[in-house]
Amino acid sequence: MGATIFLNIISLIYIILLVFVFFSKERISKPENKIFSYILLVSLIELLSGLLLYITMVNFQQYLELNVLVNKFYLIAMLSWILLFTQYTVVISIKNLTDQKLKNINYIFWILLFIFSILILLLPLQLSYIDSELMYSEGSAVDALYGISSICIIVMLICLILNIKQVINKKYMPLLCYIVLGSIALFIQQSNPELFLITPLEMFLTYLMYFTIENPDVKMIEQLNIARDTAEKANQAKSEFLSNMSHEIRTPLNAIVGFSQALQEEDLPPNAMEEVKDIVSASNSLLELVNGILDISKIEANKLEIVNTEYSFKNVFNDLVALTRARLGEKPLDLRISYDESIPNVLYGDHSRIKQIILNLLTNAVKYTKEGYVEFKVSSVIQGDVCRLIVSVEDSGIGIKNENIDKLFTKFERFDLEQNITIEGTGLGLAITKKLVDLMNGKIVVQSVYGKGSKFTVAIDQKIVAGKEVSVEDHQTEIEIFDASDKKILVVDDNKINLKVATRLLSNYNVQIEMVESGFECIEKIEAGVHYDLILMDDMMPKMSGVETFHKLQEKGVTIPCVALTANAISGMKEKYLNVGFNDYLSKPIDKLELNIIMKKYLRK
Ligand code: ADP
Repeated sequence: MGATIFLNIISLIYIILLVFVFFSKERISKPENKIFSYILLVSLIELLSGLLLYITMVNFQQYLELNVLVNKFYLIAMLSWILLFTQYTVVISIKNLTDQKLKNINYIFWILLFIFSILILLLPLQLSYIDSELMYSEGSAVDALYGISSICIIVMLICLILNIKQVINKKYMPLLCYIVLGSIALFIQQSNPELFLITPLEMFLTYLMYFTIENPDVKMIEQLNIARDTAEKANQAKSEFLSNMSHEIRTPLNAIVGFSQALQEEDLPPNAMEEVKDIVSASNSLLELVNGILDISKIEANKLEIVNTEYSFKNVFNDLVALTRARLGEKPLDLRISYDESIPNVLYGDHSRIKQIILNLLTNAVKYTKEGYVEFKVSSVIQGDVCRLIVSVEDSGIGIKNENIDKLFTKFERFDLEQNITIEGTGLGLAITKKLVDLMNGKIVVQSVYGKGSKFTVAIDQKIVAGKEVSVEDHQTEIEIFDASDKKILVVDDNKINLKVATRLLSNYNVQIEMVESGFECIEKIEAGVHYDLILMDDMMPKMSGVETFHKLQEKGVTIPCVALTANAISGMKEKYLNVGFNDYLSKPIDKLELNIIMKKYLRK
């Protein structure tokens, strides 16, 4: 008995600690967790009543009734533990646990506890003393508890085995081991009543449950994992929605931009020409808006990746100068450029994003400056294998009020609307610029004097790639139409209007055009032996996509240059198509200059 009471006291200390730790932690309130908290409390009561029983049996042997009563209370505590454990097992094994089912299980628990407690109270119980220290109880009350416990074990085993899949899924397998362990202990206890195995075993199982299946931290992590998975799924759905929207909006825009651009080349009466210009300008703004919204959504969904490659900054610079010149149009602005020749030939970074950042600043400078100059300056600081690019874009434009500088990088914020009423914009450009600079661990600062002008400076570190050369490309800014009447192009697109737009844009080159509306027809044509010099292939087509068609052509050993054509022009698409093996990529709405570059590359003699 001495050893038993020692075990009892140790268990009591542990359970008190466990109760303290468990209830001081943040917990989730699932039905099984609630039952476990009752198990913990009942464990405490059971241990306290065990201790009380020891005290009364040793010190107040003469008060038999008192001892029997305390003993029965102790048995009822044990009964409650076993019933709660059974309830726990039943709850976790039920598949679709509704509130109603849970309520019913609760009722059954309380009814059984009530009936069995009365039974234990009414049935006789004898106390047996082996010596003054070693004693135990026996009689029908104790037998009843054994009987109930055995039934509970059978119920639990049936529940777990019938729902084994669910139990494994929810990681409740340890429970099965506990029940087997419990049954063995019960059997040993029944044949050796003086052993006092049950209470320590129940306490042991309570600890085990805490450390395996009922730890609130583990439960919290599980819950967080579920929340993360749900969020990821939602994010995925959002990305898919965005890419579909991009496609849906660009397809009609392709027709608007394509035909209005073509109309500009016609001999139109002056006011009709003005209106066509307005259509071109408005559709370009709409396109800019679609791109901006896609970019910002991608950034906010953490989907925007920085794709680093080796590149020549000189190429980026030349491109930017050419684009800015094109944007200046007839505006009487002095474009001052300055390039630091000590910038290493080949850098490693995301050149298309760097270009996007600087182009946003240059476009704004041109937009918000009526007269004077726009200065585009690039310098560098080299340290080890890192080149810090310092890009500044200065203008003598309208400037920004001091109080607006902080709000400059907030999306959809535009200022001085009374002044800027005629200047188109979305208020997204600088928000995207700032996020891109942050993604590349760079810095952007703004200095501005209202009414005088502004200066945006960006610093971004790029790795230097030593000992390599990247050829400086020729930067085309003007469209050079040529005669390609001896060449043949195949345009593959499921959308009839898109085919018409492509035909209209290609008609300038007098090239022979054939059009098909699906990948199947494209393959048929090629198989029939028709020779083409170039294939323009839309990607998003029903039944067989452009990429699938392209793969089929490759399998057949077709080597005709193939350019991917897609309205799903979110960033990263160009790299995707080039990786697939396409020779080039054109986004819809088709830009006349880009088309011209492709035509020259593949069809000019
Ligand atoms: P958008 O130009 O499409 O309106 P941005 O995000 O690029 O959007 O710019 C936000 C606002 O900041 C602009 O509407 C304009 O009021 C102001 N801004 C940006 N750049 C300049 C600049 N260089 N000079 C004066 N104001 C500017």
